[in-house]
Amino acid sequence: MEPESELTKAPTTRHKCSACFKQYKLKEHLIAHMKKSLHSPHQPKCGVCEKHCKSFESLREHICGPLAKADCSKILKERGCGLCLEIFDSPNLLNEHKEICCLPAPVPLGTIRTAPIQSETDVLGRSSQSPDRGRIEAVAIDCEMVGGGTDGTLDICARVCLIDEEEKILFHTYVEPIIPVTDYRTGVTGMTEDHLKDVMPLKEVRDKIMNILQNGESISRLRLDGGKAKRLVGHSLDNDLNCLRMNYPDHMLRYEIQTGVHDPYEDSVSAMRLYKRMQGQDHPLGKSECSDPPYHTKSFANPFDSWQPKELEKMTPDELFKISKSNYRCWCLDLRCSPEPQLELSEMEQTWPSWPAARGRAENRATWGWSS
Ligand SMILES: [Zn+2]
Ligand SMILES: [Zn+2]
Ligand SMILES: [Zn+2]
Ligand SMILES: [Zn+2]
Repeated sequence: MEPESELTKAPTTRHKCSACFKQYKLKEHLIAHMKKSLHSPHQPKCGVCEKHCKSFESLREHICGPLAKADCSKILKERGCGLCLEIFDSPNLLNEHKEICCLPAPVPLGTIRTAPIQSETDVLGRSSQSPDRGRIEAVAIDCEMVGGGTDGTLDICARVCLIDEEEKILFHTYVEPIIPVTDYRTGVTGMTEDHLKDVMPLKEVRDKIMNILQNGESISRLRLDGGKAKRLVGHSLDNDLNCLRMNYPDHMLRYEIQTGVHDPYEDSVSAMRLYKRMQGQDHPLGKSECSDPPYHTKSFANPFDSWQPKELEKMTPDELFKISKSNYRCWCLDLRCSPEPQLELSEMEQTWPSWPAARGRAENRATWGWSS
């Protein structure tokens, strides 16, 4: 028997984007949309209806905003995590997840004047424990600024904190201002003149940070593909590096959003947690994503440009989505594309693209175990 909906359907075929569900009357408009949108499995996706969103914020709007889709928000309420918006198969799995998803707030360092903290790792310029399977480790940084110049608006680095992936402090110090301070911004920084007396000069601070980041790797290798050097994570890295008068290759940087937190330890912890969370997402991997050279070495080519309009016209929306590729390197690749091949990769490629359904395989996701 024909389902009733078949009969009542509008006679015109709509062309629907397989990723964001936008509909077009003309196929060529869908193709133009696909070419522009660069949808990929790395985009945030609703765990209920599988709609792809441009950003995590638009996903939040879709699933729990004021105009949220009713079905999706209902299921999120029943078995979804309000923090990371993931949906779970059972309330038990959800409860297990919630314990690791909601992390305790880090204890702020406060503003008691202390001697610099330096972990043993930077004595030799490399960490004592070798990272697993040659995986590149990340370090989070945060700088606190005081003001210089006649109106106090010039940022001067006055305090810096570096932490490792376990949230352990690798380095913390107050920094000697490079120009006279005209505004200690005490309300925000908690700092006064006393904090910055007889403290470490900027050059020494920079050398120590570079030593930690370089991790014994040569500068040429660092510029090329990073080698054993560490990735740098932070809320406002451009500004921090600027104030440190420091250069670090773009491909080794991971940016985070700016927040209003002003304890350098808390701030670097939140940057690190966000990074690890993004890194731990189990997006299905495309064929050559791991072997693709680092993004800085090639200019991005829109995959749709290598197809003839006629060929594109013949493709189904799903096929169009399959050839679409993101123009950024997703952080999930940092974890999954280690220099040595991982067993899991072949397994993922075989089952792609049905692999995203494998939700709840938390045991495969090392990063969710960061609470220690
Ligand atoms: Zn779309
Ligand atoms: Zn990804
Ligand atoms: Zn949805
Ligand atoms: Zn969660």
